[in-house]
Amino acid sequence: MSKNGLLIEYDYCTGCRSCEVACQQEHGYPAGKFGIVVNEHVLETLKGMSIYYLPFPTDLCNLCSHRTKDGQKPACVKHCQASCMHFGSIDQLNLEMKKRSKTVLYSPD
Ligand code: SF4
Ligand code: SF4
Repeated sequence: MSKNGLLIEYDYCTGCRSCEVACQQEHGYPAGKFGIVVNEHVLETLKGMSIYYLPFPTDLCNLCSHRTKDGQKPACVKHCQASCMHFGSIDQLNLEMKKRSKTVLYSPD
Protein backbone atom coordinates (compact mmCIF):
# COMPACT_ATOMS: atom_id res chain seq x y z
CA MET A 1 0.00 0.00 0.00
CA SER A 2 1.30 3.47 -0.87
CA LYS A 3 2.36 5.83 1.90
CA ASN A 4 0.59 9.15 2.30
CA GLY A 5 2.07 12.61 1.99
CA LEU A 6 1.59 16.27 1.19
CA LEU A 7 2.09 17.92 -2.19
CA ILE A 8 2.79 21.65 -1.94
CA GLU A 9 2.62 23.94 -4.98
CA TYR A 10 4.96 26.54 -3.54
CA ASP A 11 4.66 28.86 -6.55
CA TYR A 12 1.12 29.68 -5.35
CA CYS A 13 1.98 29.97 -1.66
CA THR A 14 1.38 33.54 -0.48
CA GLY A 15 3.11 33.14 2.86
CA CYS A 16 -0.14 33.76 4.77
CA ARG A 17 0.87 31.20 7.43
CA SER A 18 -2.70 29.92 7.85
CA CYS A 19 -1.27 26.39 7.63
CA GLU A 20 1.01 27.08 10.61
CA VAL A 21 -1.86 28.42 12.71
CA ALA A 22 -4.29 25.68 11.65
CA CYS A 23 -1.76 23.01 12.62
CA GLN A 24 -1.03 24.64 15.98
CA GLN A 25 -4.73 24.90 16.80
CA GLU A 26 -5.52 21.37 15.63
CA HIS A 27 -2.80 19.86 17.82
CA GLY A 28 -2.89 22.34 20.70
CA TYR A 29 0.71 23.36 20.19
CA PRO A 30 1.90 26.39 22.20
CA ALA A 31 3.58 29.42 20.63
CA GLY A 32 6.90 28.44 19.10
CA LYS A 33 5.94 24.78 18.49
CA PHE A 34 5.06 23.98 14.89
CA GLY A 35 3.97 21.03 12.77
CA ILE A 36 4.73 23.08 9.69
CA VAL A 37 6.87 26.19 9.19
CA VAL A 38 6.68 28.61 6.27
CA ASN A 39 10.15 29.66 5.14
CA GLU A 40 10.67 32.88 3.21
CA HIS A 41 13.34 33.07 0.52
CA VAL A 42 14.31 36.32 -1.17
CA LEU A 43 16.09 35.53 -4.42
CA GLU A 44 17.59 37.59 -7.21
CA THR A 45 16.19 36.35 -10.52
CA LEU A 46 16.51 37.43 -14.15
CA LYS A 47 13.42 39.61 -13.57
CA GLY A 48 14.73 41.18 -10.36
CA MET A 49 14.16 40.29 -6.71
CA SER A 50 11.53 37.64 -6.03
CA ILE A 51 10.11 36.30 -2.79
CA TYR A 52 9.27 32.61 -2.51
CA TYR A 53 7.52 30.94 0.40
CA LEU A 54 8.18 27.29 1.10
CA PRO A 55 6.09 25.52 3.77
CA PHE A 56 8.15 22.82 5.48
CA PRO A 57 6.46 20.13 7.63
CA THR A 58 8.48 19.43 10.79
CA ASP A 59 9.08 16.18 12.67
CA LEU A 60 5.85 16.91 14.58
CA CYS A 61 3.75 16.45 11.42
CA ASN A 62 1.81 13.20 11.58
CA LEU A 63 -0.25 14.07 8.51
CA CYS A 64 -3.25 14.62 10.81
CA SER A 65 -3.91 10.88 10.89
CA HIS A 66 -6.76 11.42 13.39
CA ARG A 67 -8.56 13.49 10.73
CA THR A 68 -7.66 11.63 7.56
CA LYS A 69 -8.75 8.24 8.96
CA ASP A 70 -12.27 9.70 9.00
CA GLY A 71 -11.95 11.08 5.47
CA GLN A 72 -11.24 14.66 6.53
CA LYS A 73 -8.44 16.74 5.06
CA PRO A 74 -5.42 17.58 7.23
CA ALA A 75 -5.95 20.89 9.04
CA CYS A 76 -3.30 22.71 7.01
CA VAL A 77 -4.76 21.53 3.71
CA LYS A 78 -8.28 22.52 4.75
CA HIS A 79 -7.24 26.03 5.77
CA CYS A 80 -4.69 26.83 3.04
CA GLN A 81 -5.82 30.17 1.63
CA ALA A 82 -4.35 29.46 -1.79
CA SER A 83 -5.50 25.82 -2.07
CA CYS A 84 -1.91 24.94 -2.90
CA MET A 85 -1.61 22.02 -0.44
CA HIS A 86 -2.84 18.53 -1.30
CA PHE A 87 -3.05 15.34 0.76
CA GLY A 88 -3.11 11.83 -0.68
CA SER A 89 -1.10 8.72 -1.38
CA ILE A 90 2.45 9.29 -2.57
CA ASP A 91 1.63 7.42 -5.79
CA GLN A 92 -1.35 9.67 -6.49
CA LEU A 93 0.52 12.84 -5.57
CA ASN A 94 3.46 11.82 -7.72
CA LEU A 95 1.13 11.69 -10.72
CA GLU A 96 -0.20 15.15 -9.84
CA MET A 97 3.35 16.42 -9.47
CA LYS A 98 4.11 15.51 -13.08
CA LYS A 99 1.29 17.80 -14.26
CA ARG A 100 2.41 20.83 -12.23
CA SER A 101 5.54 22.97 -11.87
CA LYS A 102 7.32 24.23 -8.74
CA THR A 103 6.08 21.59 -6.35
CA VAL A 104 7.52 19.71 -3.41
CA LEU A 105 6.36 16.31 -2.16
CA TYR A 106 6.62 15.57 1.55
CA SER A 107 6.42 12.17 3.23
CA PRO A 108 7.09 11.87 6.98
CA ASP A 109 8.16 8.21 6.92
S1 SF4 B 1 -0.73 17.50 7.97
FE1 SF4 B 1 -1.53 18.03 10.03
S2 SF4 B 1 0.23 17.69 11.37
FE2 SF4 B 1 1.05 17.86 9.29
S3 SF4 B 1 1.54 20.03 9.01
FE3 SF4 B 1 -0.55 19.72 8.26
S4 SF4 B 1 -1.85 20.24 10.00
FE4 SF4 B 1 0.21 19.87 10.81
S1 SF4 C 1 -1.78 28.36 4.10
FE1 SF4 C 1 -1.20 27.87 1.98
S2 SF4 C 1 -0.79 29.87 1.04
FE2 SF4 C 1 -0.76 30.17 3.27
S3 SF4 C 1 1.41 29.92 3.86
FE3 SF4 C 1 0.44 27.90 4.08
S4 SF4 C 1 0.79 26.86 2.12
FE4 SF4 C 1 1.18 29.05 1.80
